[in-house]
Amino acid sequence: MTPRKLKRVRAGLEALYAQTDFEQRRAQDPVGAVHRYSDPLDQELAGFIAASFAYGRVVSFQPVIDRVLEFLNECGGPRAGIEDLDLGAAQDSLGDLVYRFNRGQDVLLMLLALQGVLREHGSLEAAATGESAHQVMGNLVQALVHHALTQGGKVGVQASTPKELPRGYRYWMTHPGSGSACKRLTMYLRWMIRPATEGLDLGIWKQLEPAQLLIPVDTHVLRTANFLGLSKAKTGSWRVAEEITGWLRKMDPVDPVRFDFALAHLGISGACKGKRDPVACPACPLDKVCGAR
Ligand code: SF4
Repeated sequence: MTPRKLKRVRAGLEALYAQTDFEQRRAQDPVGAVHRYSDPLDQELAGFIAASFAYGRVVSFQPVIDRVLEFLNECGGPRAGIEDLDLGAAQDSLGDLVYRFNRGQDVLLMLLALQGVLREHGSLEAAATGESAHQVMGNLVQALVHHALTQGGKVGVQASTPKELPRGYRYWMTHPGSGSACKRLTMYLRWMIRPATEGLDLGIWKQLEPAQLLIPVDTHVLRTANFLGLSKAKTGSWRVAEEITGWLRKMDPVDPVRFDFALAHLGISGACKGKRDPVACPACPLDKVCGAR
């Protein structure tokens, strides 16, 4: 991308950012669930649960997040409910849960694994050590896989290797070393690390700077990144997340993923139709730099 094009794309993204109604859009985003809590330990646990289910349509996964959090709220909140997990009550409340790749057993396994991490490290942040997003996510996944393997027998999971864990649980525990974009984990990390500038993210984890974050690449972000010339890739991967973030870092070296929420919600809200549209495009701040047809 030429310096001139970069400057124009940045101007478009700044305009999109300025135009985004963060408060209104937060209600349509899984991060909204995290803001129901004020204790950082409750927030990091609620956030992990919310981010894990954040695939598919918001209207489909939001009731699932609510159902898991409501169970934990009845037990005193995410931290208390997980620390003193009543497995029988969890089985009664969540055992029949089904959401796309995930089943109730996956949720019970997650709650047990989260409990194991809390008992060993005191918090998810303490388990998620590292000096890069790759390391932090990798160590968190490793800890949650380890505790799922040791605790799985309590919910009928007989697994001695990660590959033997239930498919739905493995879907949640995608390691960045696999080359995946790890969209849900990069989003979770954004929530935990970025400051609360727009009333979205929390800034409660301190092991990384916002400059070290990677953009969560979902279908909406990837499509618009294609339109803007930030990547030619048609499917997301870790390499593509690095590529897009690399361009964003040239626009904002301190806080490159600042544009993520606005980009994602341009698609989630339906404002962008995914192709040139005679009504939507003239009103879009990216119109002058968008290569969509
Ligand atoms: S296709 Fe239209 S609405 Fe979508 S990003 Fe491009 S200009 Fe904006």
